[in-house]
Amino acid sequence: MADPNLQLTSQAVLHAVMDNVGAFIYIKDLEGRYLYANKKVQELFCAPLIEIQGKTDEAFFDLEISNELREVDRKVMESGQVQECEERNYVKESDEIRTYWSVKKPLFDDSGEIIGMFGISTDITDRKRIERELHEQNEFLNIVMNNVESSIYMIDQDNKLRYANQRLAERFEIAEGRHHGTSIKKLLDDEAYQLITDNNQRVFESRKAARFKEKVKNADGEDTIFWSVKVPHTLATGEEVIIGLSTDMTETFALQEKLKRQSSEDDLTGLYNRRYFFEEGEKQLVEAKHQQEPSCMLVLDLDRFKEINDEHGHPAGDEALTQVARLLSEEVRKTDLLARVGGEEFALFLPNTEANVATELAEKLRQCIQENPVQIKPGTHTQLTISVGVYTDPVSQTPFSDIYHEADSQLYEAKKQGRNRVASRSA
Ligand code: GH3
Ligand code: MG
Ligand code: MG
Repeated sequence: MADPNLQLTSQAVLHAVMDNVGAFIYIKDLEGRYLYANKKVQELFCAPLIEIQGKTDEAFFDLEISNELREVDRKVMESGQVQECEERNYVKESDEIRTYWSVKKPLFDDSGEIIGMFGISTDITDRKRIERELHEQNEFLNIVMNNVESSIYMIDQDNKLRYANQRLAERFEIAEGRHHGTSIKKLLDDEAYQLITDNNQRVFESRKAARFKEKVKNADGEDTIFWSVKVPHTLATGEEVIIGLSTDMTETFALQEKLKRQSSEDDLTGLYNRRYFFEEGEKQLVEAKHQQEPSCMLVLDLDRFKEINDEHGHPAGDEALTQVARLLSEEVRKTDLLARVGGEEFALFLPNTEANVATELAEKLRQCIQENPVQIKPGTHTQLTISVGVYTDPVSQTPFSDIYHEADSQLYEAKKQGRNRVASRSA
């Protein structure tokens, strides 16, 4: 016969386990009456065991709503089979519907007859809610990721893709979603690969988000300009990755360039306009001063141009101006700052240039105009001349606009001396 003390001790242990296991444990008879309910069930029902025993679920749950509870019990007791399932119960006491994962087993007597059932139910309401919220968040993210007009990706330190959204996947004809090491070297042209990996490296090293303009060739070999935002991120595994978002800005940048060009260009001649000449000249002058080199300014004005207009009409005058601009630009270097600064006035700024070089160039330009009659109408050519004022500024604090006015004064001198000539002065 078993030791009664030992039996008592093991019963106490069993109760302690039952009450602290964190699940609802219960035993019911064939009629569904409670024979046993652990502490968690007692707390749920807000009743001590003595008040629960002998009562059915009707007393505690709204069986209209949670009838599946009774159905599962009935199945266990009729079939004698274990049932494992999710159950939703309306708890009267707390006025809420909660979800449980229940395992229900039949109980047999010595002769093998079913006499009731034993159940253990775990409250999974919160887990289900988190799962649902996660699912919703995931769906939301997927919709955003795959409909956004940008490529979104994750790249690791070996320059391998870990994730690609639909946009990126379509662009490079790769699988969308998670990636396990597609090297971006396979997807990019050599120049783009070098640029992008350098940019990524900077983000990995600085551990700070950064923005870059990145040029990539598309399948047709055309340049696509991306504006990329790259954010460093540490995965749960401890691996460092970059989360990137690249937007195709090719058209925007092209438009920006066009606007910039238009805002710096003279409509009639295509040379720089007055505004750009003064803005850019100012910058170049500052740079020239750093180099400790003199700078020269040439101001050129067509001689007696009014007569051309009077004789041939304004459109012919415009044509003459365009041709003169072309002749001048052919004589100067591409990098020289040549502009149309007024109606029939041009200016040329030469940073880091000695006075004699500037005067020689002015003379060359004067001769060029004199020797090349311009076509102002089909079949009509006319010979034009220009007067040029040259001013050379040594390394001084003279502002750009003053240098211009000094050259303009020399132009006045050249006109006074009879036109079609160069007048120059050095400070
Ligand atoms: P000079 O310079 O030799 O003293 O005589 P000019 O006749 O050229 O006089 P000025 O430099 O004052 O030139 C102004 C004339 O240039 C007035 C106008 O007839 C002409 N002009 C100015 N801007 C334009 C333009 O955009 N198109 C045309 N067709 N003519 C212009
Ligand atoms: Mg003139
Ligand atoms: Mg003039």
